[in-house]
Amino acid sequence: MSIKNQISIINNEIKDKADLIAVSKTRSVEQIIEAYNQGQKKFGENRVHEIVEKYNNLPKDIEWHMIGHLQKNKVKHISKFISLIHSLDRLSLAKEIDKNARKENRSIDCLIQIKISNDESKYGLNPEQLDSFYTDLKEFENINTVGLMAMATFTKDQSLIADEFKKMEKLFKEMKTIDSKFKILSIGMSDDYQLAINNGSNMIRVGSKIFGQRNY
Ligand SMILES: *Cc1c(COP(=O)(O)O)cnc(C)c1O
Repeated sequence: MSIKNQISIINNEIKDKADLIAVSKTRSVEQIIEAYNQGQKKFGENRVHEIVEKYNNLPKDIEWHMIGHLQKNKVKHISKFISLIHSLDRLSLAKEIDKNARKENRSIDCLIQIKISNDESKYGLNPEQLDSFYTDLKEFENINTVGLMAMATFTKDQSLIADEFKKMEKLFKEMKTIDSKFKILSIGMSDDYQLAINNGSNMIRVGSKIFGQRNY
């Protein structure tokens, strides 16, 4: 299956229920161009040096999404062009994003990353920390908090993943009632995006289903 075919299949499936972020980490500029020529304009990356290089070498109407763990000292490299940071998970990072956004005379849209999985390695706030984190974020005038992001446990157990997505949907709905700027729930990847959409997702991050297996 070609990249083009995969994109149109996914778009047909999700209709206008969710925004498709094509996760292009490790993929070449040529592969991204193939997706772009199919109308795909939103791409997600998890490494700063890679996203910067691709930003420099690809059409300027692409929206770049930072979906991976972000180190504070690297924020300055993406603050000019980043469309959405999905991985805001600590105040020290918020401070750095805010500072760099101010320098660029803009505000940067961010999602708060929540840890819902049992996996040791996943980043994110515990759900109980969300209220106070959200309150603390208000001091940062150049950060626009527009929703939540999470990664499900890496498992074949669909019912566990569904439980995790349901928890995210509930949290998202609660946040929406207190803040109308909460518009985005970023959950769902190649193997579980339909399940995610059934549980309130409106932004999915899909890599291997579009571009093929990755080697890591
Ligand atoms: C790699 C990655 C994805 C995409 O994973 P696939 O299984 O290839 O669809 C989504 N979200 C994040 C945060 C990722 O790092």
